[in-house]
Amino acid sequence: MIRASQRAMGIVYAIRDVVLPARELEKKGIKVIRLNIGDPGKYDFQPPEHMQEAYCRAIKEGHNYYGPSEGLPELREAIVEREKRKNGVDITPDDVRVTTAVTEALQFVFGGLLDPGDNILVPSPSYPPYVGLVKFYGAEPREYMTVEENGWQPDIDDMRKLIDERTKAIAVINPNNPTGALYEKKTVKAILDLAGEYDLPVISDEIYDLMTYEGKHVSPGSLTKDVPVIVMNGLSKVYFATGWRLGYLYYVDPEGKLEEVREAIDKLARIRVCPNTPAQLAAIAGMRGPMDYLEEYMKKLRERRDYVYKRIQEIPGVSAVKPQGAFYIFPKIEERKWKSDFDFVMDVLHEAHVLFVHGSGFGKAGDWHFRIVFLPPVDVLEEAMDRFEEFMRKRLGA
Ligand code: PLP
Repeated sequence: MIRASQRAMGIVYAIRDVVLPARELEKKGIKVIRLNIGDPGKYDFQPPEHMQEAYCRAIKEGHNYYGPSEGLPELREAIVEREKRKNGVDITPDDVRVTTAVTEALQFVFGGLLDPGDNILVPSPSYPPYVGLVKFYGAEPREYMTVEENGWQPDIDDMRKLIDERTKAIAVINPNNPTGALYEKKTVKAILDLAGEYDLPVISDEIYDLMTYEGKHVSPGSLTKDVPVIVMNGLSKVYFATGWRLGYLYYVDPEGKLEEVREAIDKLARIRVCPNTPAQLAAIAGMRGPMDYLEEYMKKLRERRDYVYKRIQEIPGVSAVKPQGAFYIFPKIEERKWKSDFDFVMDVLHEAHVLFVHGSGFGKAGDWHFRIVFLPPVDVLEEAMDRFEEFMRKRLGA
């Protein structure tokens, strides 16, 4: 047998790994309600009309060529306008790099920052590539706790304990996947203070920035005075265009500390040639176009969040913090009748035919939790919650 790389073979991606057993059931003709993947495009959410038109027009008008590695100048300008509006940041198009979605921005940032032996602080629980990709680059993801009893806000003292001389950055996901937490302004400030104390940059994943229910997102980029911040965002969530694979990163670096990292990231950008050209023209339309669609979509999402939150409160053996952003809820399994949270999720799948993701797949703090995606319409969620409630009552004899 030809050996594969240990680096790649070590990768775990819980959100998609649970799909294989679900598929086995579906092959037998069983209808599984899948609440595992955060893809709005699979439900009644589509990118706004003006972006769809711009994408089609770009292709028809012949914008099917390679573009610059750093992204089209006009899009970088439009991103600056958007980010100034949202975060009041003092940046120019030269600070912006367009990427093949946030996933590639993560590859650039980790690839540009980390050598084997380095470490980076990542939230626990967190979106799995924060652990998987960091390891792929030979570095160590150090998980700082976010605290359920405190609305899943990060524990700053825990962060501090993890920092040593090989720490390269602090990564923040806000609003958070999988907890739906929205960080308070004082928390964002405290993270910046800590980063400043140890001379570390903050990596800020803001892909759910305008997707909040209570309160507004605060970016570290909008508060920093000296700490370098790398912000990442894209079209996948707030613009509902997951499949277009387009995103960006930008540097808020008041003291120019990221000069070498920027050069490294540009090298990475050049060897992968460029991001999708027509999708960039659609992104210009998105950045500059009306946002009224978001209001309508947030209304639907709020109704779905409220529904699932209410049902979780009524179901015995589980509890949850009310999510304040994104489209996930991360309940705790209060009754430990199973071997693990994975065992629990598999039992729910085989018995109730509803697919969740096990919390431990999101890191240490996810143990004995599970993630539910509340994107489907209420009638689908109702069927899923009915099946889940019946399952819990049966298992717990309640
Ligand atoms: N970052 C977070 C926190 C996410 O939840 C996701 C997708 O679910 C991504 C990044 C990936 O985004 P993209 O589609 O832009 O690669």
